[in-house]
Amino acid sequence: MSNNFIPVRVFYEPGALEYPLGRTLVERFRHMGIVVTPTSSHNRVTGIPGKTIAAQYREAKRSLVIGVRRSVTFQSCKPSAHYQLPLVTSCPGMCEYCYLATTLGKKPYVRVYVNIVEILGIASKLIQERLPEITQFEGAATSDPLPVERYTGALKQVIEFFGREANGRFRFVTKYTDVDSLLAAKHEGHTRFRFSLNCDEVVDKFEHNTPSLEERIIAAGKVLKADYPLGFIIAPIFRFQGWQDAYRRLMERSADELAKRAPVGWSSEQLSLEFISHRFTLKAKANILDVFPNSTLPMKEEERKFKYGQFGYGKYVYPPEELEELRAFFHDQAKCYFPLAHVEYFI
Ligand code: SF4
Repeated sequence: MSNNFIPVRVFYEPGALEYPLGRTLVERFRHMGIVVTPTSSHNRVTGIPGKTIAAQYREAKRSLVIGVRRSVTFQSCKPSAHYQLPLVTSCPGMCEYCYLATTLGKKPYVRVYVNIVEILGIASKLIQERLPEITQFEGAATSDPLPVERYTGALKQVIEFFGREANGRFRFVTKYTDVDSLLAAKHEGHTRFRFSLNCDEVVDKFEHNTPSLEERIIAAGKVLKADYPLGFIIAPIFRFQGWQDAYRRLMERSADELAKRAPVGWSSEQLSLEFISHRFTLKAKANILDVFPNSTLPMKEEERKFKYGQFGYGKYVYPPEELEELRAFFHDQAKCYFPLAHVEYFI
């Protein structure tokens, strides 16, 4: 498990050197003995080795690009937030089902953006435009932002920015556990810190290069103790021999740890829960099999129901009766272990 991400090669856009963080990062990686080379744009990086798609993917996941985010606004992020807040793209994890394999295609290398003050300037502007409403931002729409936090400190900066913002809220989700640098951040309850959890069976089989479930639960306990609003995303949910027991253990162990760490006066009312059953598109399936030719992810179209999606492509979801069984099970589990938690959705 690589809780501490150390890239094997680093690229930087020359423009990144105009920012203190860009200069610090380049120096720091050189000092660590890592080869650091310029690249004309963070969108067009050449020089990542690998003879096959699978090898290129693995090498890309070990490559870090230091760039400048040039966009002047953020993409929308319905339904979980109003806008994406882009700090990082991709992540060093290699989850076989990751949706980024489809959206990032041949560019899954990890990108960090060093113009954080400018990015927060855009957030300020968007908050102003929606006053007196509260504006929500999602920090993990195209990445897991935590593995590179030890280098950039960007999440901490963003969390403290939202701590000072009466009308802005921030949320992100992670599978990683290097949370210590964020525990003392002045969040003022304006950031919801969510952990993506799955049962051991799924983590061990499909979520390569990510911390174990137990490590994630312990990290969630620390975050709760630091008084952050906390959330769990249980995703993707799979049906397999013994799935009920596996997911029950996950819920029970999480409830146990939170009970030990909860600050005085905390109740599960402050916990958010999101449940996402496994689904796939044919495009995603083809990409996954390029990168993981021996994948055992359950992706047989004939075992699923085809559901028409937006933009002309459909997805394969569990058939209605199986989905209903999952839905009832997870609602029961939530009631049993976190009786007051807010179940945001089950899909
Ligand atoms: S940790 Fe998240 S972003 Fe990273 S590979 Fe896994 S699913 Fe994708």
